Amino acid sequence: MPRNLLLIGGGHSHVEVVRRWGLAPEPGVNVTLVSPDRHTPYSGMLPGYIAGHYGFDDCHIDLDALCAQAGVTRISTSAGEIDFAARIAHCVELPDQPFDILSIDTGSTPLLTNVPGADRYGIAVKPVAQFLEHWAHLREAAQTAPRPLHVILIGAGAAGVEVILAMKYRIDSDKGHAVFTLIGDGPSILGAHPRGVQQRFMSILQDQQIAVRLDTAVERVSAGTLFLRGGETLAFDEVVWVTGAAAPAWPRASGLQTDTAGFIAVDKHLQSLSHPGVFAAGDIASMIDAPRPKSGVYAVRQGPPLAENLRQALRGETLLEYHPQARALALISAGERYAVASYGPLALSGAWVWHWKNRIDNAFMRRYRVAG
Ligand SMILES: Cc1cc2nc3c(=O)[nH]c(=O)nc-3n(C[C@H](O)[C@H](O)[C@H](O)COP(=O)(O)OP(=O)(O)OC[C@H]3O[C@@H](n4cnc5c(N)ncnc54)[C@H](O)[C@@H]3O)c2cc1C
Repeated sequence: MPRNLLLIGGGHSHVEVVRRWGLAPEPGVNVTLVSPDRHTPYSGMLPGYIAGHYGFDDCHIDLDALCAQAGVTRISTSAGEIDFAARIAHCVELPDQPFDILSIDTGSTPLLTNVPGADRYGIAVKPVAQFLEHWAHLREAAQTAPRPLHVILIGAGAAGVEVILAMKYRIDSDKGHAVFTLIGDGPSILGAHPRGVQQRFMSILQDQQIAVRLDTAVERVSAGTLFLRGGETLAFDEVVWVTGAAAPAWPRASGLQTDTAGFIAVDKHLQSLSHPGVFAAGDIASMIDAPRPKSGVYAVRQGPPLAENLRQALRGETLLEYHPQARALALISAGERYAVASYGPLALSGAWVWHWKNRIDNAFMRRYRVAG
């Protein structure tokens, strides 16, 4: 009887699992990837796509092509709750998928549930495909509106700062009309980065005439109005949410052990603490002994050890340990072809940093491009 390896989610770790599977398939194993989107966006290049430096194919991995090349079946839907007794994953509008070994890499989405009206009157940066559709409309509206649109972006971490600068750059290049406000609930932008990086970006935001509101908590949203803690209101035309990561409800509802935020608790083998034979990687996973920020860098680094351990698990052999790096290099783009490198206490900036980042990002994408 062939055995089934089921991969839920086409995220940064699973694309590497699929690629490696294609290089060395395991006899007697059927591999299936469940993902609602044919194209996986590479987050490192997403701000560059918004800014117009890249085309769609430059920064999206074609899962159909990658899976076809690797002999992996791709099913175009979302998986939800898992029935561990029957060893099946429920899928939206498609038959349940059986598994012997299961791996989950479904990412995270901005946390919106704690702000009434947030999802109704704003758009989250994830799922990325929906955001990009909305962004195309926003660009059009900024060209035809009788007055400048007020675009508010909520979330002053690296992704939020990159996205607002990229949007501003693109709308200016389009000769559109918009004014921008960045809102963060902490005392500084880029709270996880050194002061030098924060200061560099504060001055870039100022040069770009992007208003920055710190220590500002949004309590509620209605059509066209943000209600801030303390009673103040802010009028807007568009609100974009790039706030901290939230987990879906289904892993916990399925009985998987999670951390307090609902992310799947895994050990140093990337294996579930509660369910042997179930693995998780990327944002959806929480390495209990070595917690790390939700960042694509870690999702990418987990790809090779995850691929190896899925193979070991299928063979019934000893799993390998994965020890994540203590700190990661972040290359944060600034709208135009200019970026800032942040590593430990170090901050370096310039057009050369953007070109360095561009080389790294393109090399990553080349690994997953399938010759037509
Ligand atoms: C604008 C932006 C810029 C960023 N830039 C960087 C950066 O430069 N460097 C960095 O390290 N990090 C960056 N990040 C963070 C980075 O995006 C995430 O940490 C990274 O995407 C996590 O990868 P992942 O593999 O966990 O999931 P994802 O890349 O989010 O992929 C998850 C996939 O699973 C699919 N999926 C979701 N739910 C289901 C389901 N129920 N069933 C089946 N499939 C499902 C989704 O469609 C998606 O394709 C950025 C984030 C944003 C928003």
